[in-house]
Amino acid sequence: MAKAYLVSVGNEILAGQTADTNAAWLAGRLLEKGIAVVGTSVVPDDIDAIKEALILGGRKAEVVLVTGGLGPTDDDITRDALAGFLRVELELREELVERIRRFFAKRGIEMAETNKRQGIMPVGTKDIPNDLGTACGILAEKDGKIFACMPGVPVEMRKMFDEQISGELAQLDGGEVVVVRKLRCFGTGESTIADLLGDMMKRNREPLVNCTVRGGVITLHMVARGKTVAEAEKLIEPVRQDIRERLGELVFGEDDQTLGQVVGELLAERGMTITVAESCTGGLVAKMLTDTPGSSRYFLSGWVTYSNNAKISELAVDARLIEQKGAVSAEVAAAMAQGARKRAGTDIGIGITGIAGPGGGTEQKPVGLVYISVDFRGDSYVERRVFSHTRELVRQRAAMVALDIVRR
Ligand code: ATP
Ligand code: MG
Repeated sequence: MAKAYLVSVGNEILAGQTADTNAAWLAGRLLEKGIAVVGTSVVPDDIDAIKEALILGGRKAEVVLVTGGLGPTDDDITRDALAGFLRVELELREELVERIRRFFAKRGIEMAETNKRQGIMPVGTKDIPNDLGTACGILAEKDGKIFACMPGVPVEMRKMFDEQISGELAQLDGGEVVVVRKLRCFGTGESTIADLLGDMMKRNREPLVNCTVRGGVITLHMVARGKTVAEAEKLIEPVRQDIRERLGELVFGEDDQTLGQVVGELLAERGMTITVAESCTGGLVAKMLTDTPGSSRYFLSGWVTYSNNAKISELAVDARLIEQKGAVSAEVAAAMAQGARKRAGTDIGIGITGIAGPGGGTEQKPVGLVYISVDFRGDSYVERRVFSHTRELVRQRAAMVALDIVRR
């Protein structure tokens, strides 16, 4: 396999203020191209430190990818370090300055003088335009090795890599590629998944199946090697089918799909609409549903009814019901879902009421208790859950369970 070395530049990464997601993302992309990351350096905004990392990277790999330090301020010195490493002068490229000027003009802003710095490039290198920002990328060659510098901002870096750097690496003969495909599961724990998959998760299997957990979502990674991406994908396909069969409804999506996306697609496909009446989740379900572009096809409006009065006046929840059963009860959750559905005129209504904490719990109604109701054209369903952990987690899990009920 061809080899790559990654350099992440920035004091803020060393200080723990920014997690180095650029290196993780690039490593995955490179593997799919048959290029293995053989080392990484995280270095401060310091010319000598960056130069040292470039030297080390050049010794270890055929391609060195640098992110960060291309901004307009004095501490952005990747350009200077690269010039020092290549032993060339820096030059001001007027056409780059013009491009940056136009970038600001389009947004009705006059370019600051400091941005001129971003038009400075090491002589003999190729500048790589950045559609999303002002930091231009740089492509250079030394002793037959490729050195590419990209912006630190993840969205800018990713677009630049996919559209402009990736192609430059095609010449590297990988021999073999590694493809990773994912299945996303919700609704059970890691150990149950492991039990259901049995020996599929054995460490020496090919394709390899492993599992990560984040925010209640269990992601199964299927990793295969092949001469081409298509060949590796062919090896993954039966494994994907096998896992889907074993896990059934626990699998909600593939690769980077979210529950909100999956529910949205389902609703759009069936021409159905949805609304929400949220108390303890404070609009989280509405956010998850509207994170996806095109969500106006199925999401029309929703309510955040935090107080009892709001539940009564906005959603026509019976005041006596709240008095008798309490605001956090199956009956009130159902009444919220029904009230919202009727008022919005949708097919589905979600109602959520609970105690997110940290205070406010009692013996009968502990912190973390949430009632989640889904009303489907008058058919009411309520689930009682008690989530542990923090306020943030209780809210997030409750919102996800609501979407998961709709999906099933
Ligand atoms: P800019 O023009 O935005 O200054 P830049 O190329 O100089 O671009 P940096 O200043 O190094 O980039 O980083 C800009 C922001 O990008 C950082 O504040 C940080 O939020 C993010 N960032 C930088 N490096 C990384 C990294 N390795 N992983 C994740 N995020 C990063
Ligand atoms: Mg910067």
